[in-house]
Amino acid sequence: YKINMDELRLEEELGKGQFGTVQKVFHKPTNVTMAMKEIRLELDEGKLNQILMELDILHKSHSSYIVEFYGAFFIESCVYYCMEYMDAGSLDKLYGDGVPEDVLAKITTSIVKGLKFLKDELRIIHRDVKPTNVLVNMQGEIKLCDFGVSGQLVQSLAKTNVGCQSYMAPERISQDEVSTYTVQSDVWSLGLSLLELGTGKYPYPTPDKTTGILVQLNAIVQGDPPSLPDDKFSEICRNFVAQCLNKNPKERPTYGELLDHPFLQKYEEIEVDMKSWVVQAYNARQDSDKKS
Ligand code: ATP
Ligand code: MG
Repeated sequence: YKINMDELRLEEELGKGQFGTVQKVFHKPTNVTMAMKEIRLELDEGKLNQILMELDILHKSHSSYIVEFYGAFFIESCVYYCMEYMDAGSLDKLYGDGVPEDVLAKITTSIVKGLKFLKDELRIIHRDVKPTNVLVNMQGEIKLCDFGVSGQLVQSLAKTNVGCQSYMAPERISQDEVSTYTVQSDVWSLGLSLLELGTGKYPYPTPDKTTGILVQLNAIVQGDPPSLPDDKFSEICRNFVAQCLNKNPKERPTYGELLDHPFLQKYEEIEVDMKSWVVQAYNARQDSDKKS
């Protein structure tokens, strides 16, 4: 079954990224609300068809830690990617001044299980782990989106990919290029994302009038890795993040090892009301948006 634009009723814009916008849409034939991501690319029809073909494997793979894929199509040189709508949005808008350790543990378990699923079932590495690519719904579910399923899409986007906050591992910055990307680089990005969720702040200098992006990249490559503060987080939690943020990629744990880590094991036994956390974080965000 193929989705096309005529079947969709466009609703509000959900956000903007480097390559285009994400819009809430309603799929009339099935009565399903979806999120449609528009990716503007200058590609020929052959390459666009290759992308659609590569995305097709997502129809056969389902995980509760991965945002559901509904279908994709292209118009002119834009790719439209339709996925599960996550009604609480992305984690960057929910973490506020930082999430408590128990919530962080539950989020971490979901992300690691999602990444492990991608690696084991689809043989892919995510390549873009960061808070904006971890989505949340009002049921308290946490799911990954924007993973590199299509090699052609990854290649086409790679040329231009420079944001103002880099989650790239040090070895990727110094060696550059797509070819050197391994699963260990995603583990670094995971660690950096967890640190940001826990502290409420991206830990490296972000470019402004006085400092360019090179100051940030230099700090990632040359500096000591950042760590969680010891007044808010337990030793096992800080150790988990520190292991992900090892500057030597070979020393970073595998997903299996991360799932066995005492931090995740401890909270496996503990019930955390994720639904209440999401509702409260979502409302706090709405209020602060209203004020500004
Ligand atoms: P970048 O372009 O640097 O990767 P980004 O991840 O923020 O940044 P997009 O992937 O284009 O950019 O997403 C834009 C915003 O749309 C996200 O920050 C998120 O808040 C929202 N969004 C994306 N997908 C969904 C979805 N499936 N459901 C609800 N909101 C979404
Ligand atoms: Mg994204």
